[in-house]
Amino acid sequence: MLNIILFGPPGSGKGTQAQNMVDKYGILHISTGDLFRYEMGNNTPLGLKAKEYMSKGELVPDEITIGMLENKVNANPDVQGIIFDGFPRTIPQADALDKFLESKNTEVTLLLALDVPDEELVKRLLKRGESSGRADDRDENIIKNRISVYKSETS
Ligand code: ADP
Repeated sequence: MLNIILFGPPGSGKGTQAQNMVDKYGILHISTGDLFRYEMGNNTPLGLKAKEYMSKGELVPDEITIGMLENKVNANPDVQGIIFDGFPRTIPQADALDKFLESKNTEVTLLLALDVPDEELVKRLLKRGESSGRADDRDENIIKNRISVYKSETS
């Protein structure tokens, strides 16, 4: 399997680059942010829980995030590979991913880290907020919190 992790702060272009790779390699794209937004849109218990954290720009707790990610992978047993977009974001998530892939006799093939200056991230996210419908892209304080959470917990 071709298992690629796309790593980088909010607004660095993970989703855009993931789409380019899906087009080129035909592998499964898993964005934990998209999965949470889907659950939120359907007002599921998982979505309501995630919203408490996402609306503040905080990370959703590991246990919830890891369980959701594993379910998504398990629901797609026949794929040639996976692009992990926005996962892992903490050390426990990274450890869980290693163990999970090992249990499937596979491993991380490649990690691509996108690096963009902070001022550019804020600009891009505010611009995205004009059309994305994402509340967390409309408020500069929430954006700055997401960038600082990336630095303290993810990077
Ligand atoms: P961005 O990278 O622009 O912040 P995402 O769609 O990847 O956008 O994530 C949006 C929000 O979803 C995050 O701010 C966080 O609250 C939650 N989230 C996404 N992925 C994770 C993860 N791996 N662990 C915890 N929370 C996550």
